[in-house]
Amino acid sequence: MQTPGPRARRSVRVCQDSIVSTFTVINPATEQAIAEVPSISLAETDAAIEAASRAFETWRLVAPGDRARLLRRFASLVDANLEQLAQLEVANAGHTIGNARWEAGNVRDVLDYYAGAPERHTGLQIPAPGGVNITFREPLGVVGVVVPWNFPMPIAGWGFAPALAAGNTVVLKPAEITPLTAMRLGELALEAGIPEGVFTVLTGKGSVVGWRFVTHEKVAKVCFTGSTEVGTKIMAGCADQIKRVTLELGGKSANVVFADADLELAAARAPYGVFDNAGQDCCARSRILVEASAYDRFMEMLEPAVAGVVVGDPTLEVTEMGPLVSSAQRDVVASYVPDGAPVAFRGSCPDGPGFWFPPTVLAPVSASDRAVTEEIFGPVVVVIPFADEAEAIRIANDTPFGLSGSIWTRDVGRALRTARGIEAGNLSVNSHSSVRYWTPFGGFKQSGIGRELGPDALHAFSEVKNVFLATDA
Ligand code: NAD
Repeated sequence: MQTPGPRARRSVRVCQDSIVSTFTVINPATEQAIAEVPSISLAETDAAIEAASRAFETWRLVAPGDRARLLRRFASLVDANLEQLAQLEVANAGHTIGNARWEAGNVRDVLDYYAGAPERHTGLQIPAPGGVNITFREPLGVVGVVVPWNFPMPIAGWGFAPALAAGNTVVLKPAEITPLTAMRLGELALEAGIPEGVFTVLTGKGSVVGWRFVTHEKVAKVCFTGSTEVGTKIMAGCADQIKRVTLELGGKSANVVFADADLELAAARAPYGVFDNAGQDCCARSRILVEASAYDRFMEMLEPAVAGVVVGDPTLEVTEMGPLVSSAQRDVVASYVPDGAPVAFRGSCPDGPGFWFPPTVLAPVSASDRAVTEEIFGPVVVVIPFADEAEAIRIANDTPFGLSGSIWTRDVGRALRTARGIEAGNLSVNSHSSVRYWTPFGGFKQSGIGRELGPDALHAFSEVKNVFLATDA
């Protein structure tokens, strides 16, 4: 069992006297306890927010070039510790080692990208009679980042990197069950020379630490990723203080396959569009819509592709899908595949310890089936035929969510029409790519509010201030 080292204790801001309880962190592939992590109290949360608020007064004044240098140094340390971070995520979240290395590399890249921002975070000069009109991009203050368990590293980085670059200080709460990489990132920030109080990781309960970000008057913004249910509460809570909020919530994305597509490729890739990270991905293409004339051929090719997904020990390089994150999550996922569910075919998964669930394809399904209408957040996909382009768009939009989606076709016009027709924030044509750190990411409808990554994120962590200087006075 690991306990946080001395640097972690500093970055995590734990006062031993006030620890009332701890979380036991479980390896989901083995069900073994791997760490004991403090559950921080309300008083400790308040103290950390006060410290972040004091740190803001100096951090905002750090010269842009120096802030950039500190973020670059942080990125270099993430790179130097990439393998350790990746191994921690494999053990804590059951991510495959290949994915976990990508995720640690994503934190490095996001830090590097936003390290370029402090010196380029410019305002405008706008013509005005009788003087000079300029705008500034002012930091907000303390930003509270609340992170879910499905991608602990990238989602943390998408919040803290642009927030710090824009001159804010950050208090970050990882999910209760996946705190280890965030704690290590907190240590690395200190090692990079980022002053204490500028980036503070607070391990604790959502209802205590996370909710305090919403209610504490010195937190200027909450950047939340997680369930629509909690996101709704956070948005309502932030309304009390007109607090800024970014929400990245659930999804029920469509993978639309037209008959003119490269069907072999579309079928070969479809499993990876939904089963990656064991389907615990807000961008999972969990509804495959197939043009009716190509349906039978597509299903014939999908079956071996699903059987071919390598599910097992996430530490092995060959593994493509690991376990679900917890036994509770496995129970939730299993509830979508009750006895008598229309299972068309399934992949395999290990027996024995670990929260395993096999890749599962449901078809035919009715439009009102829970597996069709609700986010499952596990390796279960439904396949639905459609008659034509208009019907494909109608079915794709028949959900309260709007996060991502894919379109497979050789017809460029149809690809663009369908992409414009689908109400979602991140669409890909002939691929399942949703995330690049330099392009915006976020949802339509109940999938969220605001955009992360790319140039948009900086705007989300600053306010525009307009200043007019009279020259004719
Ligand atoms: P969750 O909403 O239960 O928890 C997310 C985070 O919020 C955790 O850190 C949790 O401790 C905290 N939290 C819980 N209650 C809180 C409260 N009252 N106040 C403040 N914070 C609170 O979600 P989860 O189960 O951890 O994650 C799975 C969900 O997240 C899925 O629905 C998924 O679609 C969604 N998600 C969305 C995105 C996206 O980018 N859109 C990314 C990842 C996950």
